[in-house]
Amino acid sequence: MKLIFERGAEGRRLSLLPACDVPEYRPAGERKNAPRLPEVSETEISRHYSELEEQIFGINNGFLPLGSCTMKYNPKVNEQMASLPGFTDIHPLQPEETVQGCRKVIGKTKEWLCEITGMDAMTLQPSAGAHGEFTGLLTIKKYHEQRGDTARTKIIVPDSAHGTNPASAAMAGFTIVNVASTEEGLVDLQALREAVGPDTAGLMLTNPNTLGLFDHNIEEITSIVHEAGGLCYYDGANLNAVIGVVRPGDMGFDVVHLNLHKTFSTPHACGGPGAGPVGCKAFLEDCLPEHVRTYEGNFLVIVRALTYLLMLGGSGLTDVAHNAVLNANYLLSQIADCYEPSCEGAHYMHEFVITMEQMKKENGVTAMDIAKSLMDYGIHPPTMYFPLIVHEALMLEPTETEPKEMLDYVAASMRAIYQKALEDPDYVKSAPRTTRIGRPDEVRAARKPVVKYEFPED
Ligand SMILES: *Cc1c(COP(=O)(O)O)cnc(C)c1O
Repeated sequence: MKLIFERGAEGRRLSLLPACDVPEYRPAGERKNAPRLPEVSETEISRHYSELEEQIFGINNGFLPLGSCTMKYNPKVNEQMASLPGFTDIHPLQPEETVQGCRKVIGKTKEWLCEITGMDAMTLQPSAGAHGEFTGLLTIKKYHEQRGDTARTKIIVPDSAHGTNPASAAMAGFTIVNVASTEEGLVDLQALREAVGPDTAGLMLTNPNTLGLFDHNIEEITSIVHEAGGLCYYDGANLNAVIGVVRPGDMGFDVVHLNLHKTFSTPHACGGPGAGPVGCKAFLEDCLPEHVRTYEGNFLVIVRALTYLLMLGGSGLTDVAHNAVLNANYLLSQIADCYEPSCEGAHYMHEFVITMEQMKKENGVTAMDIAKSLMDYGIHPPTMYFPLIVHEALMLEPTETEPKEMLDYVAASMRAIYQKALEDPDYVKSAPRTTRIGRPDEVRAARKPVVKYEFPED
């Protein structure tokens, strides 16, 4: 596809604006040369964007089972609410009495999220899940500092945690203590007991963990940490697995973050804007970020999430959890005679992990080959090679918003690919055949991305 700079011709313009009929204002310090912008007609720019759109695969195009990302349907009514002028045409500095409706949205959202998580206070400021983790960890840090307990410098992170957990803890200035998982994929309680001590600031638990498993020892985990004087942090990015069924606050957690752009149906493709609210128990409330009257995070994302909450209501949210878990387990049951689950006999929650290790050993077909093949069936590849503790991992999260017919289609496609992989591994290894780009050099694309257009004359 041509880049926008490769289209058009010198002097070509859009026809959107009439000729200027007022004196031109030329400020001092004006740039000497006009910026080098694309010179295209309206037709050309319109086609350019349509072509770009055709290259994108999103939730509106088909099945997008990216495990740990929760790519679920974004209700269109959310967009309608978020485009009401009373929400869009406001300024952060306008008088408080003129934005009471917006304040009510914020207050109501906090109230719902506190109720859902079992927490007492909530900040909506963080803009993403990882940002929420960072905020929550600084909250924990401040708590220990306020008590003069400065020896608590370590955060315990099980190896089944989301990758952002240790990264956020390191950014917040903590040392990370890794705790291995058992064969079953759960936190090793013995290893946890050995890891805690007077230097423990807290534990971060991703639950369900990155294997898609609910740690049934969760209450014992939080009490081990509390007895050692540490606090417990719940990574609730994927609360859609348990929402309306159990609450982090009731399981012994002191701090939690949520991803509105996962569990609460706000869009999250292309890096945002998102929201990662952080909740905590009352004794930590004054350690949360200060209340900033006018800047409450990504406000229009919050409007969307509240719309979703009000639309579903309490019992609707419980249905979300039930259906998310049902869909994942149904899909797995339909492919389990071909694909091997990462943990034998495990009871998965909203997502599951399969391993292609055996297949790779026997005929060289990898997790990557299966993922590439799915694209020829109009299915977005699942999460690959994550979690790191599973070899040749594929992680699928169908979400609660997929109908049974789609799950049946996906299962049939995956079974067909499996058969093909046995009969003709090379065919599967050379997929995809139907996409514009097949197998780019991913290392080079990540390490040396070309993000700047090089003008031919430069
Ligand atoms: C997605 C996710 C995060 C990070 O959220 P971002 O908004 O991408 O920063 C953290 N933890 C878990 C378990 C997640 O699934």
